[in-house]
Amino acid sequence: MKLILIFSALFGAALCLETFVGHQVLRIKTRNEEQLKKLRFLETLDHLELDFWLNPSTPALPVDVRIPAHSLQAVKIFLESHGIEYSILIEDLQVILDREKQDIVASQQMERSSSTFNYGTYHSLASIYQELDNLASEYGNIVSKIQIGESYEKRPLYVLKFSTGRGNRPAIWLDAGIHSREWVTQASAMWIARKIASDYGNDPSITSLLNNLDIFLLPVANPDGYEFTHTTNRMWRKTRSKNSGSLCIGVDPNRNWDAGFGGPGASSNPCSDSYRGPRANSEVEVKSVVDFIKNHGNIQAFLTLHSYSQLLMYPYGYKCTPPADNTELNTIGKAAANSIRSLYGTTYTVGSICSTIYQASGGSIDWSYDYGIKYSFAFELRDTGRYGFLLPAAQIIPTAEETWLGLKTIMEYVRDNPY
Ligand SMILES: [Zn+2]
Repeated sequence: MKLILIFSALFGAALCLETFVGHQVLRIKTRNEEQLKKLRFLETLDHLELDFWLNPSTPALPVDVRIPAHSLQAVKIFLESHGIEYSILIEDLQVILDREKQDIVASQQMERSSSTFNYGTYHSLASIYQELDNLASEYGNIVSKIQIGESYEKRPLYVLKFSTGRGNRPAIWLDAGIHSREWVTQASAMWIARKIASDYGNDPSITSLLNNLDIFLLPVANPDGYEFTHTTNRMWRKTRSKNSGSLCIGVDPNRNWDAGFGGPGASSNPCSDSYRGPRANSEVEVKSVVDFIKNHGNIQAFLTLHSYSQLLMYPYGYKCTPPADNTELNTIGKAAANSIRSLYGTTYTVGSICSTIYQASGGSIDWSYDYGIKYSFAFELRDTGRYGFLLPAAQIIPTAEETWLGLKTIMEYVRDNPY
């Protein structure tokens, strides 16, 4: 009997999503460095199991943190006793997750009956990969699917290549979902893929872009993590690689690039959500992109999609000195932010990673910039914290539409200003 119970518990755990009943997300506003120090102390208390959605940085920026039910009282008392202001962003995380799940199930049924991919909903890795094939066959004249490597758990890493010419044209790199829980990024990347393919020959801007440049799009840069967010833990951010000498799984794949690796703003603790890994490029998901870009040899722009916060950032993150192209990158970034705002009024903050959020080492756009790719930008998509990583599916298409306008502004600049 005991054995049966153990087996059913294990089996249930393997099948079931981790629940977040009673978890709250608090937005904390600090007034000074002293209060920030208190939050950094809170960060070190592992037993509280806090999940910082926005890390403590400067008093100008809020701190968002998911707090399990068992730690809520302790954290609130701690904040109140130090006079630190907070509000509740999400009252009960599980309520939002249940809504998200219902939405997925409902649209899966619709998709089955109509056998089309609904771009306004969140999808499993399998259906995203299926849609990549559909795009490649529907738009065979300009879209092809390339496998650039395999994840730690042996899932293929697929890139869509948009190209109208032979040979190695100058190209633009775009990836999404390197942090797996940032679901609006993978979903937006898919919408953008269809947009590029279907607008070629119809929209003069996209036509001229693709007549001059190739675009490479990696819509799911961390497939193991993405699968895990669907099957087991919606809040998973890292890769799924094993760490020797630790029971904790995964590396933060955006602290793992060879750019100031091991510096500030990355953790050496394998249990941390910003664990940098044992060495630069230790994660095969990162190494595969690095190898692809080096082998290509003519990538002119490196663009990457994250969420959330509505930021458009350029290097550097690992240091706080401005890059040599600071003025130009800032001008391009502001133009892209204006394009984004023109559609639904969504406002973006533009600046270097260090000046916009905080020092963070081992990030992808720092590597690409130092490698010689001048036009390197990281987007943090919607929202500013109302839903955070759990952006309702109804916002996928508006987010993708406005993001595409920003990307297009950058791509047009790249087309007109080769170097
Ligand atoms: Zn991210």
